[in-house]
Amino acid sequence: MILFTLTPLFAVTLVPWYGFTYGYSVYDWAVFVLLMGFCGISITAGYHRLWSHKAYKAHPILRFLFAVGGACALQNDVFNWASDHRRHHAFVDNNEKDPYSAGRGFWFSHIGWILHNYPSGSQDFSNIKDLQKDPILQWQHKHYLALVLFMNIAVPAFLGYLGGSIVAGLMLGGLLRLVLSQHVTYLINSLAHMWGKQTFSEKSSARDNPVIALLTYGEGYHNYHHTFQWDYRNGIRWWHYDPTKWLIRSCAWVGLTSDLKRVSPLSIETARLEMQYRKATERCDTLSNADTLRARLEDEYQQLKQTLDLWAQHRQQWYAAKSSQIHDQLHEKWEKIAVRDSYREVRYQLKLRRQRWRELLQSFSDVPQIA
Ligand SMILES: [Zn+2]
Ligand SMILES: [Zn+2]
Repeated sequence: MILFTLTPLFAVTLVPWYGFTYGYSVYDWAVFVLLMGFCGISITAGYHRLWSHKAYKAHPILRFLFAVGGACALQNDVFNWASDHRRHHAFVDNNEKDPYSAGRGFWFSHIGWILHNYPSGSQDFSNIKDLQKDPILQWQHKHYLALVLFMNIAVPAFLGYLGGSIVAGLMLGGLLRLVLSQHVTYLINSLAHMWGKQTFSEKSSARDNPVIALLTYGEGYHNYHHTFQWDYRNGIRWWHYDPTKWLIRSCAWVGLTSDLKRVSPLSIETARLEMQYRKATERCDTLSNADTLRARLEDEYQQLKQTLDLWAQHRQQWYAAKSSQIHDQLHEKWEKIAVRDSYREVRYQLKLRRQRWRELLQSFSDVPQIA
């Protein structure tokens, strides 16, 4: 309680006071950004996607760095964090069992759950037996307090010393970084369960929100994450801001990560489509010519679903053909081209179907509602 009250209090008073009195250099701010990123990514790529969800495998060097970075972020050791988080997914929104259930309000899911020993947050390591075997995590668990002090005091002070001011290092790299990096992560438990779209599922309160993704190293696509929790990505499109995903993938190129798990495009698209269908059906009931609209909706939905399945089949065939060895025989080359062409054909059909579907959903907003 003292820690979580005093650190923000000092961060909003001492940090600006020191800045106005003595000033911060570009170097001091660089240390802040560096440590902020280190803490953030250690939580999202390490604590969350690697250890809580096993979405990929990581080299010991990387696991060591994440363990140290997580202690720097002062978010408890991996055992406690991952155990709580696995319970959060298993019992999401259950106020008795989800340690940070959003159903108990913004404050509780943001930080309240940490400030008091609630029964929902009682320690139970029965769900992290796999993690307890990792020697790096055993080491982190054993020396957690020493690591926290080292990373939050010694490291910022040393980096500050290198830049000419120990106090400036402690202010920005220590205090301000600690408070901001903590609250940014807490947003995933609070705001990402309240503000945004339920793109893939309504089974949990989790939301997709690109604004939260910007602040949380890509964790804002939280509805996707709760629907497909073992995917190493949270933002699935290339334009989705998900630096955690980019880091995991780039590390795979140099052998630091492996076995990256992805959900198939068919499962993703089917989930999205079903969600749109369900919402549109609900809307139909409120419109004046409900029966006609529902029949059209059902028809388009079935056709789009069939095209989607067909597309997935052809896509798989094309990917298999692309990776197969060609022994310079003409008929093999022709076969490959035929597979490619039929895949492109189905892809085009899918594009048209999707367009029709979007237009149909759009047209619902023009139909008058029943008074
Ligand atoms: Zn998760
Ligand atoms: Zn969640």
